[in-house]
Formats: sequence, C-alpha cells, structure tokens
Amino acid sequence: MAYHQKKCEHCSMWTDGSIHNCAFCGGVLDEVYKKENSARKLKLPEKPIIRINPEDGPFTIFFKRIVQFHQLVFYWIVSIVIYFITWVVF
Ligand SMILES: [Zn+2]
Repeated sequence: MAYHQKKCEHCSMWTDGSIHNCAFCGGVLDEVYKKENSARKLKLPEKPIIRINPEDGPFTIFFKRIVQFHQLVFYWIVSIVIYFITWVVF
C-alpha cells in the first residue's frame, strides 16, 4: 500500500503525510506552509458585525442579534451618507 509520504522538516525522516505530526519526532509537518496559510486567513477582512458563538446561551444570542441589527443599520446609514457625499461632490 502506497502512502503519501512527507519528509519531516525537523528530523528529515520520511513519515505518513496524512497525519499532522511526524511519527518519529512529533514535529508539526508543513509547519511553514501552515503558518503562511493561517497568516493569510488573518489578513482576510473580518465581518464587521458581532459574532454569535454556537455555545452562547439563548439570552446572549438574543442580545447579540439586537447588536447585529443596530450594527447593520449603522453600516446602512454610513453607506447612504457616503453615497450622498459622492453624489454631491461629483
Ligand atoms: Zn520528524
């Protein structure tokens, strides 16, 4: 059976590429790649509205829904203001 093998960056042994850690030294495989990937994910713009976590209680979710609604209204007003500013200027 052919495994997809990877060379460990830490101990230079060939190990099973489908696992996350080297079977010999326990080092993280593709560490550089994963770091670059997570850095790229961090650069993506976060949604400007509050997040609802699945573990939040019903009161917290209800409160966050209200906050989200006001945030959306706020962004809606801001976008309309920007629209009118550009409309007046140009
Ligand atoms: Zn290793």
